[in-house]
Amino acid sequence: MMAPELLPPVRVLMGPGPSDIHPRVLDALGRGTVGHLDPYYLKIMDDLQQMLRALFRTENRMTFAVSGTGSAGMEAAVVNLLEPGDSMVVCVNGVFGGRMADVAQRAGARVTQVERPWGEVFTPQDLVEVLERVRPKVVGIVMAETSTGAWQPLEAISQVVHDAGALLLVDAVTSLGGVPVEVDAWKIDVIYSGTQKCLSCPPGLAPVSFNQRALDTIQARKSKVQSWYLDVSLLASYWGQERVYHHTGPINMSYALYEALRVIHEEGLEACWARHARNHRALKAGLAAIGIDYAAQEGHQLPMLNAVRIPQGVDDAKVRTGLLQRFGIEIGGGLGAFKGKVWRVGLMGYGARPANVLLFLSALEQLLGEQDYRFQSGAAIAAANASYLGDKS
Ligand SMILES: *Cc1c(COP(=O)(O)O)cnc(C)c1O
Repeated sequence: MMAPELLPPVRVLMGPGPSDIHPRVLDALGRGTVGHLDPYYLKIMDDLQQMLRALFRTENRMTFAVSGTGSAGMEAAVVNLLEPGDSMVVCVNGVFGGRMADVAQRAGARVTQVERPWGEVFTPQDLVEVLERVRPKVVGIVMAETSTGAWQPLEAISQVVHDAGALLLVDAVTSLGGVPVEVDAWKIDVIYSGTQKCLSCPPGLAPVSFNQRALDTIQARKSKVQSWYLDVSLLASYWGQERVYHHTGPINMSYALYEALRVIHEEGLEACWARHARNHRALKAGLAAIGIDYAAQEGHQLPMLNAVRIPQGVDDAKVRTGLLQRFGIEIGGGLGAFKGKVWRVGLMGYGARPANVLLFLSALEQLLGEQDYRFQSGAAIAAANASYLGDKS
């Protein structure tokens, strides 16, 4: 059987991920494959680790990329820290907190979920009582809840978690590269991310970092880590000086991440965060001008994931199908409690740029104009451009 030639349609990826890939990153993927113990590749791994430490703002030696998507990073973090019977508190205010709780339960942990309504964030006060009562080994929290667009502050949370003697485990899959993530300054013990959100890179690797406290905890385990593939102690022998074969590194994906990190550090981390914020402000101004508002709590809205309420009377599917089929633009629909109620518009990595914002707003205006929805034609574009013009940051 001969399947047709591979000719993927050209898309503008403005959903919750994967996001637009930087052309230099796509190019890097196609470079010649070397062996996973080739001196050239070992040097690439060292440089990757250095660039990841700079991205995470950490000195942690155990900073590397797990082979697998963001969920593999989540799984690696959870199964290494927790032994069967250990207690974990997971903060759940959207899909990904729920997933973390599921992963921990499967690892045999006793999980206590603390919940906030979708679109809201946690305050330290939300945790104090449960930490006192449960005395968990680990507290897990999602920094950028991609299902709701809520941006969770971590510094004060970190304080109460450590005061209670627990380790702090953070999901930075969507936040890393788009907003400040300060692993050392905020005393995050374990953090994981993914390549496919704000790093302008295809899905396939999960950057992670473990601090010494986390490594000591893993060292003190009584039972083996249930996952051979994700066992950090085994992975450490490959990423560390010994270079002991564990599994075959995904060479070409490592090239892609390498180039993606070069692109980010060339722009500068602060400049990269500022670009995400600037494009978010323009998108938000444009949407506000046609009466569309955000689902997440004011003051806690993520720049890279704009979850907005679908206006009354507007057909969700028609708009998203129209965007995809007529304009090549992908956005995300709502998940779980937000299904049919919100659109999720991503401005991630290479996708966070004026061309995408203006294209999306123009296309949206055309599609809304065909529906039973009243707004001032052209207002979204005008407001977005006014935002760019007046934005000196
Ligand atoms: C996307 C995402 C994940 C899962 O990453 P995959 O690459 O889909 O495995 C986990 N957490 C958050 C917050 C995410 O946005």
